Amino acid sequence: MIDKLVRENIVSLRPFSSARAEYEGDADILLDANENPFPTAYNRYPDPYQKKLKKEISKWRNVDPENIFLGNGSDEIIDILVRTFCEPKADRIRYVYPSFGMYEVVADINDVEKWPIHLNKQFDIDVEHALRDIDKSDKILFLCSPNNPTGNCLNYDSIHTIIENFPGIVVIDEAYIDFAESPSLIGSITERENLVILQTFSKALGAAGLRVGMSFANENIVRYLNKVKPPYNIGSIVQNNALEVLQQIKQLNQQIQLIKSERDELKNSLLDLEIIEHVFPSDANFLLVRFKGNPTVILEYLRDKGIVVRNRSKLPGCDRCLRLTIGTPLENKSLVQAIREYS
Ligand SMILES: *Cc1c(COP(=O)(O)O)cnc(C)c1O
Repeated sequence: MIDKLVRENIVSLRPFSSARAEYEGDADILLDANENPFPTAYNRYPDPYQKKLKKEISKWRNVDPENIFLGNGSDEIIDILVRTFCEPKADRIRYVYPSFGMYEVVADINDVEKWPIHLNKQFDIDVEHALRDIDKSDKILFLCSPNNPTGNCLNYDSIHTIIENFPGIVVIDEAYIDFAESPSLIGSITERENLVILQTFSKALGAAGLRVGMSFANENIVRYLNKVKPPYNIGSIVQNNALEVLQQIKQLNQQIQLIKSERDELKNSLLDLEIIEHVFPSDANFLLVRFKGNPTVILEYLRDKGIVVRNRSKLPGCDRCLRLTIGTPLENKSLVQAIREYS
């Protein structure tokens, strides 16, 4: 089934064959890649398939290495997915809306049509709407759960119904899954050959600067993504640093617990303030908050106090809303204090 969804030029593509992909032994004298022979921490090309890193991710997430594809951030994976499956000027992506802006941008860059699936008042997905008027050109459907910027997880039964009935690839962006109560859908990749799970080092793992995105999928999908990706898309320093991050999962889990309890505390403190109209439920490391005043004025007031938050008030269903990332306990206190003074 996957072969039929992939662009024809990608099916027949002969990928670039890099020196480091062709030779994988441990010879002493490497004269195959035109590298500078004098050793530094980075004179050699990195492993194009990031095998060591995938092995550790595989143990951590309990997924076979063959089912893992890594990118220079999830952003790169989203782009590679679109370029693998969507024919420019012919195919279409679907995506929940409001959500993460990259799905639209990547579609626009690749000249691929886009069809937003508007979320309902509770920011949840309507299955009928998502599956309406599907044709062969609908190649990828992006669901984001927990969703950015609304914070909620999408309904599980709805997601499953969509995976079963959507004829193309269903991508679940789980960038915030480690902050959620509900489990990842990663376990379903072995049963659903059209499912791709996206995760990232950028949020819960505290490594946004590294640029490592993870995806988990059927090995046929992984094989095609490997054909399309730039040969050395993740540098060796980054691969090594990512391995170090995974050795600190215990401490990171404690941070995640702290961020979650700060999220609840921040919500309660905000609800005590007159100017706050509503705080939306969050399964992520941010809160979508509706203010009674003008959000742009409040945003600028906070910026003058040295606090930067995100204005999301132009998005449907998000009028007068700012998105507040959960900071350290001290930062959250300063935020509440500043808003209290504004009130
Ligand atoms: C932050 C975020 C990402 C992460 O992107 P990276 O390129 O991995 O940093 C992906 N999806 C969503 C919904 C996000 O909010």
